[in-house]
Amino acid sequence: MAKPGDPSGTSGQTAGKGTEAGSGTKPGAGNDGKTAGGGSATGGKSGDAVQVVAKPADIAVLVNKTYKLPDNFKPDDLVEPNIPFIFKEKSEKRLMRKEAAGALEKLVAAAKKDGISLAGVSGYRSQATQKTLFENYVKKDGEEAARKYSAVPGHSEHQTGLAMDVSGSDGKCAASDCFAGTKEAKWLAEHAAEHGFIIRYPKGKEETTGYQYEPWHLRFVGTKIAKDIADKGITLEEYMLNAVPVSK
Ligand SMILES: [Zn+2]
Repeated sequence: MAKPGDPSGTSGQTAGKGTEAGSGTKPGAGNDGKTAGGGSATGGKSGDAVQVVAKPADIAVLVNKTYKLPDNFKPDDLVEPNIPFIFKEKSEKRLMRKEAAGALEKLVAAAKKDGISLAGVSGYRSQATQKTLFENYVKKDGEEAARKYSAVPGHSEHQTGLAMDVSGSDGKCAASDCFAGTKEAKWLAEHAAEHGFIIRYPKGKEETTGYQYEPWHLRFVGTKIAKDIADKGITLEEYMLNAVPVSK
């Protein structure tokens, strides 16, 4: 059982370690919509039992291939941040949890002052939406293949309401590999933490996060944790699983 004060409800195993997702078998471009939080801890090897997080509404909640949200978890404070989006329609993709939305507004405004125009690409994603996505991939490629590039429902960080994919306001390279190295990506890497966000899937940490580099996927954790993670050059996995002493 999770200790009180352990927001992820972990039991000490290393999340996402050695999973299949870092293997580079995923489609290269535009994969974020298919992959966020996805896959399964059991997809690549046995022994990584999936665990349900104890505090899904915690701002530092760890959701990945090993740790899943309770079935049909939906945050109760979803709002639409007042920022530009690359699409016109009303959609759940615009939503984030209130605190994260306010922080994202400040981040986008700060970027603008520096001459960087950012726009939202994809925020909250319900478990139902993720289920539809995943099932379509299973139909197309079979379950084993789908698990390598698509989120198993309940494992998407977008379902927490704390994640937002962003791009330049022209929408070029939205959630695609070519976003890496853009001035927008550089600005985010430098300044996201000041506003409480981390680049959740950094380069070189694929083995730890279970995902390839996604310079566009912002995850809100609050400024204290974000700065700590950025300063140390670590991941949320390393922060959560090493910072919190865990007892069986
Ligand atoms: Zn994402």
